[in-house]
Amino acid sequence: MTLSNTAPTAELQALDAAHHMHPFTANGALGAKGARIITRAKGVRLTDSDGAELIDGMAGLWCVNIGYGREELAEAAARQMRELPYYNTFFQTSHVPALTLAAKLAELAPGDLNHVFFACSGSEANDTNIRMVRQYWALKGQPARRTIIARHNGYHGSTMGGGSLGGMAGMHAQGGLPIPGIVHIDQPYWWGEGGEMTPEAFGLARARQLEEKILELGAENVAAFIAEPVQGAGGVIIPPDSYWPEIQRIVDKYGILLIADEVITGFGRLGHWFGSQSYGIRPHIMTIAKGLSSGYQPIGGSIVCDEVAHTIAQDEFNHGYTYSGHPVAAAVALENLRILEEEGIIARVRAEAAPYLAQAWGALADHPLVGEAVSRGMMASLALTPDKASRARFAAEAGTVGYIAREYSFGNNLVMRHVGDRLIIAPPLVISTDDMDALVARARKTLDQTHAHLQ
Ligand code: PLP
Repeated sequence: MTLSNTAPTAELQALDAAHHMHPFTANGALGAKGARIITRAKGVRLTDSDGAELIDGMAGLWCVNIGYGREELAEAAARQMRELPYYNTFFQTSHVPALTLAAKLAELAPGDLNHVFFACSGSEANDTNIRMVRQYWALKGQPARRTIIARHNGYHGSTMGGGSLGGMAGMHAQGGLPIPGIVHIDQPYWWGEGGEMTPEAFGLARARQLEEKILELGAENVAAFIAEPVQGAGGVIIPPDSYWPEIQRIVDKYGILLIADEVITGFGRLGHWFGSQSYGIRPHIMTIAKGLSSGYQPIGGSIVCDEVAHTIAQDEFNHGYTYSGHPVAAAVALENLRILEEEGIIARVRAEAAPYLAQAWGALADHPLVGEAVSRGMMASLALTPDKASRARFAAEAGTVGYIAREYSFGNNLVMRHVGDRLIIAPPLVISTDDMDALVARARKTLDQTHAHLQ
């Protein structure tokens, strides 16, 4: 069977429905409807098999930071494939792409985060983190420190480890998650859960749940706390300003390791190389993936501080992936980092793109359906509500109104995602102000259509 971008859409959809099991999808329902087949992309725009052009408000899955169609990355991949398409780094060998990328990441990462363990995805990197923090404490003579504290409605991937660290109820309901030794505290979601409290008081209260959980478990049993600087898949939940300083105080006080999951927030999305820098936090480990290669190749990893890396180095760490530090993926990632750096893309996010998005997106707050319209860097969300004043939720089954809006958005050739009744975007960092205007105009049209639908 040959690959054809030009076959009729119905034929491609039929093949897809017959053989392709899509992630996070009710495949029966999708099969009946037919998937939208994306055939090419350039900049911030996708083209489908019918020739329609869509604005990709999600940068793929929060990953195409430099935009689509950069020839330099294709060249880097081809060059590396010709020179050394594969070699591993297991048994006392290394290769130039992996070691160069590790050194570059050490240079970019804050503080003494100087060491990199490579994986192929964010999920795998978080599985690495579970094993690494437990091994760290074992080597420190404190093997009882095994429990990892995470958050409800956090997302850390889809493997057994990643899905367990995540706090997604729908995932935990399938396949026996979470695995033992992982517990969850509540999220800092003020609009949805803050009640009568001020955002600042609520942020402190939610952070202090970490201290309560540590005391309940006994600090001597706690290995680490993991969280995303801004929750992405949970609905672009931006924590109140009081939240992260209090978390930092608590992890410092009890000497537990802090893992910042930077899979979305890394590589410029919040206007700095890493979200931890935007929030002034000092993690011991950062999980990375997505924007590391702008999604052009599957690569992820853990950037690890001196203390943890030097301790782990005392013994053999019995862990790794065939494709850890894959040379082609590493070469592409290096080229992506060069572009981010040399083209000043992250500085532009900070100085121009994020402030522009905040203003343009924030203007949607006047829409009758919108309870809040918020953004941080190049991540933004809307809460849909039947009553702004009381921050009410729709009575319908959670997510129905969000799903309806998402369908209208797709029809308007704008890729937005819905998480329950939140609509979210995270466009490529290189999006122009004109394209942000076009994106917001399509989002407003979507809201109008959804509003009319509900009347
Ligand atoms: N961590 C976070 C914060 C993510 O958003 C994701 C994916 O969306 C992951 C981990 C998992 O990454 P992957 O899908 O590459 O396994």
